[in-house]
Amino acid sequence: MSTNSKALIIGSGIAGLALSVRLAVKGYKVQVFEANAYAGGKLSEREQDGFRFDAGPSLFTMPHFVSELFEIARKNPSEHFKYKRLEVACRYLYEDGLEVDAFADQNAFRKELSEKFGESEKSVEKFLKKSREIYSITENVFLNKSLHKLSTYLNAGTIKSMMQLYKLQIYSSMYKANSQFFKNERTVQFFNRYATYNGSNPYKAPATLNVIPYLENEIGAFFPEGGMYNITKSIYRLAKSLGVEFNFNMPVEEILIENGKAKGIKVDGEKLESDLVISNMDMVSTYRRLLGKHKAPERLLRQEKSSSALIFYWGMNKTFPQLDLHNIFFSNDYKKEFDAIAAGKSIDDDPTVYVNISSKYAPNDAPEGAENWFTMINVPNNQGQDWDALIAEARENILHKVSKTLYTDVKKLIVTEAILDPRTIESKTSSAQGALYGNSSNTPMAAFFRHPNFSGKYKNLYFCGGSVHPGGGIPLCMLSAKITADIISKSN
Ligand SMILES: Cc1cc2nc3c(=O)[nH]c(=O)nc-3n(C[C@H](O)[C@H](O)[C@H](O)COP(=O)(O)OP(=O)(O)OC[C@H]3O[C@@H](n4cnc5c(N)ncnc54)[C@H](O)[C@@H]3O)c2cc1C
Repeated sequence: MSTNSKALIIGSGIAGLALSVRLAVKGYKVQVFEANAYAGGKLSEREQDGFRFDAGPSLFTMPHFVSELFEIARKNPSEHFKYKRLEVACRYLYEDGLEVDAFADQNAFRKELSEKFGESEKSVEKFLKKSREIYSITENVFLNKSLHKLSTYLNAGTIKSMMQLYKLQIYSSMYKANSQFFKNERTVQFFNRYATYNGSNPYKAPATLNVIPYLENEIGAFFPEGGMYNITKSIYRLAKSLGVEFNFNMPVEEILIENGKAKGIKVDGEKLESDLVISNMDMVSTYRRLLGKHKAPERLLRQEKSSSALIFYWGMNKTFPQLDLHNIFFSNDYKKEFDAIAAGKSIDDDPTVYVNISSKYAPNDAPEGAENWFTMINVPNNQGQDWDALIAEARENILHKVSKTLYTDVKKLIVTEAILDPRTIESKTSSAQGALYGNSSNTPMAAFFRHPNFSGKYKNLYFCGGSVHPGGGIPLCMLSAKITADIISKSN
């Protein structure tokens, strides 16, 4: 396909934005149509009563995937997007007063787990070595390439990785693998939590997900200058500078198919033609709403979705020196918490509470003497539960737990509040059932059953984002855009 071919992208989530940059760099004329009034989808922000909150993602890993977009556009990333590595990736607080810091410094981290959990430093080192090994095997097979193109399997790197797949412990759960590694239940819980980074359940998800600690503990956790929304803003600005045209408040109504080819989209009642159509909208919603006249790949669509989240954005009129940017208040019975999520109907009465306070690093996010608390728990995805009742109950349980651990009645300190729940995640971003990460990774083969980055049925129709290969979370969404751009280049 010649340069100046026209590409229409549906959605300006982080993957849609990244893909718009990649296609513009390749010479495509790119137009993005976004249903919301703003860019970023889940990676957006909200302001209220003098507080600014990052609305969705709060943990930033693999920042080089963002920098790469500036590099391919021949710009110096550090002039456009700044971030710094955190010295403590996360602080863990327990009701009995124990506090554990996940230090970026590897020696300090091993020492901390040894002192606080009684694990041998050698066990921690061995575990992280295994995590690194899983990454080195999976990056060639699952992460950097399409799983659905023959060329992927003809590559020497992939063949080498395929021969080592047995090392990935696909058929062991994370919980089982971690229990064999560590003697203290608290260490097991500490590393099990990484399953939630893609909305999975550590008691079901394959031990392959033990790759995640490598990303956070060895490559690092980062904070973008000015907050997470600056990731969206900087890529959006880059795309605009490359000539990408953005159309907000423009929900796409249909993908036009003619003779087995995507020919364009229908938006605001008007038909727009293009050479390529790429959906960054959740793939279930894409089939149900934009391709409703056509047969859908039902088996792919029916797969279990990841868990969702309940978030309270609380402006607190006090600062808490004992808290850091990322804080976890662990539940006392992790299995019970995940059983409730798996059952789908309720929320455990002692949930693990995550509190993110961006004003620790971006003081303008809260008034002086105050903090912006993004308080989140994992909850089942939306199956029509009585959310109002569940939210009211969960709010009390969260406040009780945090107050008990901090020896402070935090309820009294809330000066402003907003709530995001599975219903609003679904309505704001079209994510099926309000899932945060598309399909769950709770089965051994889940990674192989994600929707490809292209349509197997219609030519010129492509997909990118957290609901398709390789999965959700900012790093994987960035890779998804890269894989889709590569496939487009090779096919046209
Ligand atoms: C509360 C929360 C916490 C999270 N925490 C983290 C974290 O700490 N770290 C991390 O890496 N990830 C995290 N994630 C996951 C991460 O946010 C997502 O995986 C990622 O942002 C998804 O990006 P995406 O490109 O798939 O698109 P989305 O963000 O899902 O955006 C899709 C876009 O398509 C638009 N759209 C939908 N339908 C149409 C239509 N018909 N026409 C036009 N536009 C349409 C939507 O409006 C939206 O803007 C979190 C998510 C949430 C919600």
